[in-house]
Amino acid sequence: MNGRVVVVGAGLAGLFAALTAAESGAEVTLASMRPSERAQSVMAEGGINAALGDNDSISNHYHDTMAAGRYLADPNAVKGLTEAAPGIVRRLLGLGALFNMRRDGEPELRCFGGQKIQRTAFAQSGTGKQIMSAVIQEARKYEARGLIARYDRHSFAGLLCGGNGCTGCAVRDNYSGETLYLRGSVIITSGGMHGLFGGTTGSLDNSGAVTAALLQMGVPLANGEFVQYHPTTASVAGKRLLISEAARGEGGRLFVPRNGKRWYFQVYLDMTGLPDEVFGTRLSDTLDDCLTYLRLDPRREPIPVAPGAHYFMGGIQVDEQHRTILPGLYAAGECCCQYHGGNSLLGAIYGGITAANHAIADEYFTDGGDFFPADTAQTPADKLSTQAVTRDAECAAQYSILEKTGACFHPFSTPPPM
Ligand SMILES: Cc1cc2nc3c(=O)[nH]c(=O)nc-3n(C[C@H](O)[C@H](O)[C@H](O)COP(=O)(O)OP(=O)(O)OC[C@H]3O[C@@H](n4cnc5c(N)ncnc54)[C@H](O)[C@@H]3O)c2cc1C
Repeated sequence: MNGRVVVVGAGLAGLFAALTAAESGAEVTLASMRPSERAQSVMAEGGINAALGDNDSISNHYHDTMAAGRYLADPNAVKGLTEAAPGIVRRLLGLGALFNMRRDGEPELRCFGGQKIQRTAFAQSGTGKQIMSAVIQEARKYEARGLIARYDRHSFAGLLCGGNGCTGCAVRDNYSGETLYLRGSVIITSGGMHGLFGGTTGSLDNSGAVTAALLQMGVPLANGEFVQYHPTTASVAGKRLLISEAARGEGGRLFVPRNGKRWYFQVYLDMTGLPDEVFGTRLSDTLDDCLTYLRLDPRREPIPVAPGAHYFMGGIQVDEQHRTILPGLYAAGECCCQYHGGNSLLGAIYGGITAANHAIADEYFTDGGDFFPADTAQTPADKLSTQAVTRDAECAAQYSILEKTGACFHPFSTPPPM
């Protein structure tokens, strides 16, 4: 048997997890609250990082990522991420994602935060739309051949657990209320916790409900305190409009007015000095958004901006292979705690691929198991306490060695209970 894999969430991480598992010959079920076309990944604007520039290297990308994450990220995971990045961008190009390209056929690169050189491949200011369109088309081919079964508009309803781990999950039809019990290793890719925050740039559908349910079931979270507030967001009704950091990468500057002069700080974003061509070929979605939602023309006047909740570095605790503490349960993308300091589109794709590869390799495919509904206080971890304790003890031992040697990271990113 090539295994059965259930993916919960159909954004970028979920699609790549589903594709990777299907390519390995597993039976794949992809369930999500909304269709992929409505996932937050579609909203990503500025780009995806990879060491593709002539003056760049994987080592530079690795060191910049570790520094941006204040050396709190798992270095092995970041190493894997940065090594895989150029191949991932080339794969996206191969799937037909329309990036801005140079005359020599290589992707154009721009600057993003936390990097010293241009390393961000982009599709104007609608990178997520382009990538998701290409990946959704690829997934459709597998769906048409019966290799991926899709359940759109289904919400996570709980885990199936037995033996010493997770044997599947349940999802509920948002319209009929019918519950489906899906067998297989489970990969959670349910996005960040934007719905919990007012004033967020992200999708309010991503409420953190799956993450909260897993926590209640005894699956640990990590680094929840690391929430990225983006400095350049603009107020629109009930939400925040992101003005991508690409706007600053292209030359936009922050300032406050003082004594009739511009003091460059965090209240207005000035893009008036940028050549018209930049708005035409590199920031066209940003221009459209400002004209449509703010009734402002960023070519003529500065945009008032304020910080807004944007990205969740913390979440479901996973190891370098994207395993949670529960055998058979994996997590990837913005719902998990990995790649603090890394580029999130890249992290979602690489995390989805890694989780699926290990779900297949671990061969934790067992039948049976009890149902633990998402809204119960009953925890599989209680039943599986031997396993959980063993894993915690391993973590504690590793953590204490690292502490003694002065290393400032932990294989699971935060210290386990000692
Ligand atoms: C405006 C904006 C711009 C951004 N720009 C960039 C950028 O330029 N570069 C970059 O690297 N990153 C960017 N990001 C961040 C990046 O887009 C995300 O981190 C990444 O796309 C997350 O992918 P994901 O697959 O983890 O989650 P998502 O794409 O959010 O997918 C989550 C999936 O889970 C499903 N789901 C949620 N709750 C449930 C539930 N209860 N039951 C079942 N399914 C559920 C959803 O329906 C969806 O299918 C941006 C984010 C925003 C908001």
